[in-house]
Amino acid sequence: MRRRTAAVEREHREHREIRRGTEGGLDVADVGRTGDTPVAAAIGLDVGGGAVKAGTVVLTSGGTLTGTDVTGTDVTGTVSPGGGGSAIEAAETRIEHQVESDGDALSALCAAIARDQYGGLRSRWPGLPVVWGVSAAAWIDPHSGRSVFSPHLGGWRDRALPQDLARALSDLTGLPMAPGEASGHASGAVPVPSVINDADAAAWAEARLATSAGRRDRMVLVAIGTGIGGALVRDGAVDIGEHGMAGEFGHMTMDPAGPPCPCGNTGCWELLVSADALAARAGRASARAAIDDALAGDPACRDAVAGTGRWLGRGLATLAAVLDPGRFVIGGGVATAGELLLAPAREELARHLPGGRRRPLPSVSVATWGNRSGWVGAAGVALERAGWPVRSLATGPATSPAR
Ligand SMILES: [Zn+2]
Repeated sequence: MRRRTAAVEREHREHREIRRGTEGGLDVADVGRTGDTPVAAAIGLDVGGGAVKAGTVVLTSGGTLTGTDVTGTDVTGTVSPGGGGSAIEAAETRIEHQVESDGDALSALCAAIARDQYGGLRSRWPGLPVVWGVSAAAWIDPHSGRSVFSPHLGGWRDRALPQDLARALSDLTGLPMAPGEASGHASGAVPVPSVINDADAAAWAEARLATSAGRRDRMVLVAIGTGIGGALVRDGAVDIGEHGMAGEFGHMTMDPAGPPCPCGNTGCWELLVSADALAARAGRASARAAIDDALAGDPACRDAVAGTGRWLGRGLATLAAVLDPGRFVIGGGVATAGELLLAPAREELARHLPGGRRRPLPSVSVATWGNRSGWVGAAGVALERAGWPVRSLATGPATSPAR
């Protein structure tokens, strides 16, 4: 374990791309100036196929969530009991395929990232209680945090993730594991993290912290990256289903004669709409390259994005027929194509939704939190599970935990 941990740490250092924004986010002095008192901090990690995104949130008593996000864009929101504030700092680490398929190595990588974030929090906010939350591209048992299955994280199938992760962080830091269940915290010990599905985390962030948050509506989140993650939000709460596995929209069969999917099915929706599908359609090395070229006006890449948008719209029509949401929020890296993707999706949604020309249509928009929503949601849910309610941006009563 030690040797593997050292190798993973080295990889972590080599591949880490810390993209801090201007001045690295809000610091102690800034929070002091706004009159806020920090009450707790949370580390959020978002473990997807290909990358771990991570960041920290400091929950304060005063009112405004302000800081600098992973891409350097200022974010504003409100968290905390009685209105709070937060400092956000984030990093992104690429995962090698080898690590992705080795569960111990993946847990050790996450622990190394968390330890760095802990270090930053400890030096800036000494004595502040810290919890951590992990969102994963996996189907998570809502009671135990155990991963049931994951098409994209081969090493994290059927694992007791909260305990695995706490043990890995304990190994790295030499600190004992804190007694008790997920989301507890204790000074001088490693708390067990809360672990949730990545799309549920993203939906939580969109529903509770986005600028339009607080609307008691029915929203469906569709996050498009390596695969498609999904979640249904009703009245501000994520509906995780009877077994915690609702929202696996990416594995709706769109073409029974289509190619095989890592989930074991064929012709799944995500095979037609994912980042890889877009890259292949555009003849580019990555979806990022395809989207950048499309935004710069390349006709072939624009066609590829539009074609992806049409498949997106067909799937949204099926979801709208079943769920009748007020809005679809599209997240993940592919959503950065914006209207080039969404306009064709809306047309196809109206065309294929039964009665689509005669009934109210759900809106289709890009997620406010974009690629940050997974780790922000994981951190927020961890705070709530540990007993620190997080308030939405809109004025209103503090709400109970999302699940
Ligand atoms: Zn599938």
